[in-house]
Amino acid sequence: MNMDLCELSPAYVRSIAPYQPGKPISELAREFGLDEKNIVKLASNENPRGIGPRTRAAIDAALGEIARYPDGNGYDLKLALSKRYGIDMSAIVLGNGSNDVLELVSLAFLGPGRSAVFSQHAFAVYPLATQARGARAIVVPAKDYGHDLEAMAKAVDEDTYVLWVANPNNPTGTYASPQRIEALLRQVPERVIVVLDEAYNEYLPADLKADSAKWLKRHPNLVVVRTFSKAYGLAGLRVGYGLTHPSIADVLNRVRQPFNVNSIALAAATAALDDMEFVAKSYAENLQGLRQLEQGATALGLEYIRSFGNFVTIRVGKAADVYKRLLRRGVIVRPVGGYELPEHLRVTSGTPDENETFLAALSASLKE
Ligand SMILES: *Cc1c(COP(=O)(O)O)cnc(C)c1O
Repeated sequence: MNMDLCELSPAYVRSIAPYQPGKPISELAREFGLDEKNIVKLASNENPRGIGPRTRAAIDAALGEIARYPDGNGYDLKLALSKRYGIDMSAIVLGNGSNDVLELVSLAFLGPGRSAVFSQHAFAVYPLATQARGARAIVVPAKDYGHDLEAMAKAVDEDTYVLWVANPNNPTGTYASPQRIEALLRQVPERVIVVLDEAYNEYLPADLKADSAKWLKRHPNLVVVRTFSKAYGLAGLRVGYGLTHPSIADVLNRVRQPFNVNSIALAAATAALDDMEFVAKSYAENLQGLRQLEQGATALGLEYIRSFGNFVTIRVGKAADVYKRLLRRGVIVRPVGGYELPEHLRVTSGTPDENETFLAALSASLKE
């Protein structure tokens, strides 16, 4: 056959640059003949605490039922979320990870002839989800590595249907205050869906956290997106959610797979949501980890971007080279050249030992 089968897909699909995930531990072990036990992975902003005993018990109990389809409406989890946020269950959309919710927004609201606004250095899924639908990306230059919200509001065009905002942002860790987000919501026309991605919300100190669910009443075009992958420690199970106006939730629910969230994920997330102590400990340990990484970077004479998430993005020079040297020492971090940050590496805050191992390996790699 002489035909390139790729050509059968639309040009906007073919031009998608694949998402670069953090390297799995098993892959590095295979490539370098290392023992998995000696590998430190600080590449995907996972929770080094793992999961709590109550969540584990819920998972064990759910295992007995996996021959059955999950509850496609996620009743128990939605009920728990509706109580937590004081909103109606019809205002909640569940996703196979919050990534799924972002995809649902793009499926429902984007397409050829439409555009979406997002910031330079913003989370990689925004350009991906925009491009996969054939929509035009309007990328607004960052300000001090963070979102320039005023410029983003001004960048909204006649054909703009979605505006993506990550707060805090990944991979920069930058943060915008509730006042600034509210100002953005007031500036953006109601016909534009504002996706406020708060994947790292649980890592913010109480005085910096926005009560974003309360904005839904005044701003029906808002979709607040949260996840169980980060502070709740459930990245491998894939579960997240969106809070929005019931009309938007209705459209998003029409385009999702009927059973998009699996039964174990539903049970685990419902249990994890109640485990306030686990989240509080994760928060406190993360703060210590951030300080350790920041102090370590400073001691090596390196700059870093002040972070409000569970990771620090450090300027190391030729990041692609340093990344490879770290791999040889059994340490996996995340190069962020694809985010137009070719001199930085993003490092997840791990346990004190993991952070120490990383800092020692970084020190050695810089001298190489
Ligand atoms: C990690 C992350 C997510 C998504 O994670 P899921 O595992 O799909 O829930 C969403 N947004 C940002 C900014 C993230 O960093």
